[in-house]
Amino acid sequence: MNTLEQLYESMGISKQVYDFGMEIEKVLKDRFDNLKETTTYNQLKVIKAMQDNQVSEACFAATTGYGYNDLGRDKLEDVYASVFHTEAALVRPQITCGTHALALALSANVRPGDEILSPVGKPYDTLEEVIGIRPSKGSLAEYGVTYSQVNLLEDGSFDFEGIKKAINEKTKLVTIQRSKGYQTRPTLSVARIGELISFIKGIKPDVICMVDNCYGEFVEKEEPSDVGADMVVGSLIKNPGGGLAPIGGYIAGREDLIEMCAYRLTSPGLGKEVGATLGISGSLYQGLFLAPTVVESALKGSIFAANIYEKLGYQVVPNGTESRHDIIQAVTFGSPEGVIAFCEGIQAAAPVDSHVVPEPWAMPGYDADVIMAAGAFVSGSSIELSADGPIKEPYAVYFQGGLTYEHARYGILRSLQQLVNKKIITL
Ligand SMILES: *Cc1c(COP(=O)(O)O)cnc(C)c1O
Repeated sequence: MNTLEQLYESMGISKQVYDFGMEIEKVLKDRFDNLKETTTYNQLKVIKAMQDNQVSEACFAATTGYGYNDLGRDKLEDVYASVFHTEAALVRPQITCGTHALALALSANVRPGDEILSPVGKPYDTLEEVIGIRPSKGSLAEYGVTYSQVNLLEDGSFDFEGIKKAINEKTKLVTIQRSKGYQTRPTLSVARIGELISFIKGIKPDVICMVDNCYGEFVEKEEPSDVGADMVVGSLIKNPGGGLAPIGGYIAGREDLIEMCAYRLTSPGLGKEVGATLGISGSLYQGLFLAPTVVESALKGSIFAANIYEKLGYQVVPNGTESRHDIIQAVTFGSPEGVIAFCEGIQAAAPVDSHVVPEPWAMPGYDADVIMAAGAFVSGSSIELSADGPIKEPYAVYFQGGLTYEHARYGILRSLQQLVNKKIITL
């Protein structure tokens, strides 16, 4: 008698789906073992940053009101700067999400007449409205900031010729998105980002290179700030919050640029000096501490999902064997039904809200209806097991997270079961 199989069965996973998954997992053992070295490296890097900055119990105390002299907040920013090997960092609960952090980093460091260049194609959907690529109230375009874009070449490589042509006397800031976002292009490795930054700085040394680091933190030993990025930006309800951060974003980078971000976030003259942490600092520290192992769990889940759906004949990015540079797994189902069934399965496997059925809706910032599955402890957290897909061609689902691999595995099996139950897939 196999009680684990019975437990799975009682939680909606048939023997057939279970066996199919276990056959695939067997083959992945070496691959999983190989992730450990990076996890260990990053875990030690985080601990060293906390030790070097003398993190103490007093850092976890709550502040209210203006938040002057918030030791925990200031030290956490030093810890982030140490982890990312930058001069400074801004890490705040007042930064509401990743889009906000990116909007902040951009708007703080450009002025009317400046141009922003994206040399890696279209940026993440929500940034289109920040920049004004899609007309939007309050966009940078309204402030007289222009935008230019150079797409990746057909084979995913950089269009160096085009980038050289696009850089001009107005180009103030280059935005580089590490992760694929809602696209099926490959994610950029840190090494490739470094190559791109050297090329750009070779043409215009004083241009600011900003990297949208969302979903990339701790996947590799190095971060974009180790290879020349002037600012790296991300969300605390993704990788670096380790699942414990209840809110927040970070920007790590050059001191002068971070200072501008602080003046923009709070107010000219006040900058970093204000911003109470209301008692959440402990979670931000502990989340950062857990982040390297949480990212490993999420990566294992992505690799497991890639191998399952690749075996079933679907297009998966990255594929089952290639190296990983973020925690996202894209699976193209080619039909709305496939995307919806996958998300229903992920939702049904959650510890929270497993009884609700997700439906596509018009989320702010996106140009198509989006279905999202997330039964998360922190609302909308996508370092927790989650899946989302815009209901538009090519009908791909983007799957990420999993605070533990055991949960990620269950979620992926449950999604497969849902596709089988709805007769979209036959095993
Ligand atoms: C998630 C994400 C963002 C935006 O972050 P939100 O926290 O959802 O606002 C920006 N860029 C990329 C690549 C992302 O994955």
